[in-house]
Amino acid sequence: MSPERGEGRVLKIDIVTIFPKMVEATLAEGIVARARAKGLLDIRVLDLRDFTTDRHRVVDDAPFGGGPGMVLKPEPLFAAVEAIRAERGAPSAVVLTSPDGETLTHGVAARLSALDHVVILCGRYEGVDERVRDHLATDAISIGDYVVSGGELPALVIVDAVARLVPGVVGDEASVAGDTFAQGGLLDYPQYTRPAEFRGMKVPQVLLSGHHAEIEQWRREQALARTRRYRPDLLRDS
Ligand code: SAH
Repeated sequence: MSPERGEGRVLKIDIVTIFPKMVEATLAEGIVARARAKGLLDIRVLDLRDFTTDRHRVVDDAPFGGGPGMVLKPEPLFAAVEAIRAERGAPSAVVLTSPDGETLTHGVAARLSALDHVVILCGRYEGVDERVRDHLATDAISIGDYVVSGGELPALVIVDAVARLVPGVVGDEASVAGDTFAQGGLLDYPQYTRPAEFRGMKVPQVLLSGHHAEIEQWRREQALARTRRYRPDLLRDS
């Protein structure tokens, strides 16, 4: 692959969490783990509690104004980002995982994948002191309109979607370029593998024909038909 396409570039990511083991466990498998080993991704997972100054390493406190649950305190999060800046230089983006953030899409992932250094902050409990969003984070990203218990799974989803778009991370670039949402907002065409017939269910004949032009055309038609059927909003929006 030619250097103009960006291979050789390293994307630095720092993830700040109170559950570093949970995050590390997922990053140790699959495509992201391989990309780390190849040096395409330089990912660090930081324990938020390492940036507390009290003996009990407290990261949360009760909400001002009352109400249920606890809120992540601002000081350890600010201290973590300051330490990252001192060790690795100013990050290009500081992303707060938040259900009220911008919804993660292919476009958002592509934007982040072009940066040099991304910090991701994982919330917990009832959420994060708003001063973090207003004065520390450059972006807030949601993985969808539902609430999960912490920012760890959202951070992992963001890292995986972003990593796939870093040149060299997915072995076959054509595979990423053809993924659902990547090209012109169409869903992917249907895939089949052996056996050609299973319990009477047959693979479409054209795929067995060896006729590449016809296969291409069939796939284009299928991608369009599936988008019309399952996600007509994608065609309206483009
Ligand atoms: N009380 C908050 C939810 C807090 S959930 C509310 O109603 O908005 C705790 C943390 O999990 C959040 O701070 C955020 O970091 C993370 N989180 C939960 N759902 C998320 C989502 N859909 N996208 C991104 N992060 C999410």
